[in-house]
This record gives sequence, C-alpha cells and structure tokens, in this order.
Amino acid sequence: MGWRVGNGTSINIWKEAWISGPGNGKVNSDANNSQLSVAADLINSEDHTWNEDIIFSNFNHQQAVQILCMSLSDNGSPDLRIWRGDHSGIFSVRSGYRWLTNSIDAYSNDPISVEETWYNKFLVSVWALKLPSKIKIHFWRVINNFIPTFSNLVTRKISVQTQCLLCQSESESVSHLVKGCSFTQQVLSELGILTCPWQTEQSFASWLSVAFESLNSTARRTFVVALWTI
Ligand SMILES: [Zn+2]
Repeated sequence: MGWRVGNGTSINIWKEAWISGPGNGKVNSDANNSQLSVAADLINSEDHTWNEDIIFSNFNHQQAVQILCMSLSDNGSPDLRIWRGDHSGIFSVRSGYRWLTNSIDAYSNDPISVEETWYNKFLVSVWALKLPSKIKIHFWRVINNFIPTFSNLVTRKISVQTQCLLCQSESESVSHLVKGCSFTQQVLSELGILTCPWQTEQSFASWLSVAFESLNSTARRTFVVALWTI
C-alpha cells in the first residue's frame, strides 16, 4: 500500500512507503533530517505545492523528482492509503503483477543492477538534458502516464470527453499524444525529429526510451520541449 498525499500530516516520511514510482516507496536510508517528520513539512503552506528547495536538499535526485511528480490533493484533504502498484491507485491483478516483476527485476540482484536497468538509464539521460527542471519533470510525467489526458481522467471518472482536441480522431491518451496524434507527428516532422516505429509487445515507456536515445543531444532537447509545449 502507498499514500495519496492530501494535507500530508498523516504520513511519516522516514517510516512509511509513500513515494510513487520505481523503488519500494521508502526514502533512501542515508537521507535524514530531524527537522522534518511528516509530508506536510515538505509542502508550502501558502499555495499547497511541494517545496522544491527542501525536497532537493534532503533527498537524492531521483527520489526528489519522484516526490515532485506526486500530485497533491487540491484542497489539502486527509491523506489516503492507496494501492501503489498502479498510477490510478486502484488495485488490479495486472498492475500487481507488473509492479512485482519490476521490483524483482530491480532488486533481486546486487545494487549495481538497479543502476543498469533501461528505465534508470533513461531517467539519467533525461535528467542530463540542459533544460529547466519543470520541463524535465513534465517529460517524466509523460513517461509514467501521469498526465491528466482525457482517457486518464475518464479512468478516474473525472471527465466524459475522450477525443483528442488536436486531431479530433482518436481517444486522447499519453501514447496517442506523443506517438499517434497527427498533430504531434506534424510538429515533430517540421522540427526534423524522426521517432522509431513502435514494436508490438513494447511498453510505451520502453518505446519512448528507445526513441529518445536514438536522437542526438540537440534533438533530445527539442523533442522534450516540443512535448512540453503540446
Ligand atoms: Zn490527436
């Protein structure tokens, strides 16, 4: 189980498994600061957003980014316990299986193997781009399907409209916006960016990492900024 952060007062940041994304959800063992105890200590009280300065100075880079990518409930409602195997927070057999196999892949061997998974390599190369953090965090959200597209909102019963507003032809999902949408394809082709074909059986994130790595560093930056703009 994990947490959906509301006002942050129920979540002990050192003891709970509360961080979304790769890993076991707990903060890295060498992070420690007795001034901080609950998630609320990492949240700006004025506007209820994550306090980037505190987060970047107390956690390792990857965990800081993972925390900043977690959405906060708008009104600072109570923290909720959720299933952490799926981004929707709802348990399904498939997400449970996927979460388990990913965890085994990442943690069954020695710690070095964690660094060498394609996912971690991909994140490291994204983070190496000389671009503002917010654009890179947006790309991280794209990779992890954290974008509030229509089809994600429908899954969470927030919206009923699903058609992409850019091309009006298909359901708007993250993979559609990045890969399938004729509007995106036109923008990318005018920018001179060619992405590789999507193999069946390949996950969206895996395709995105291959597409990203096939570009040179200038094209990588253009690609990430273009997706942020769209
Ligand atoms: Zn479209």
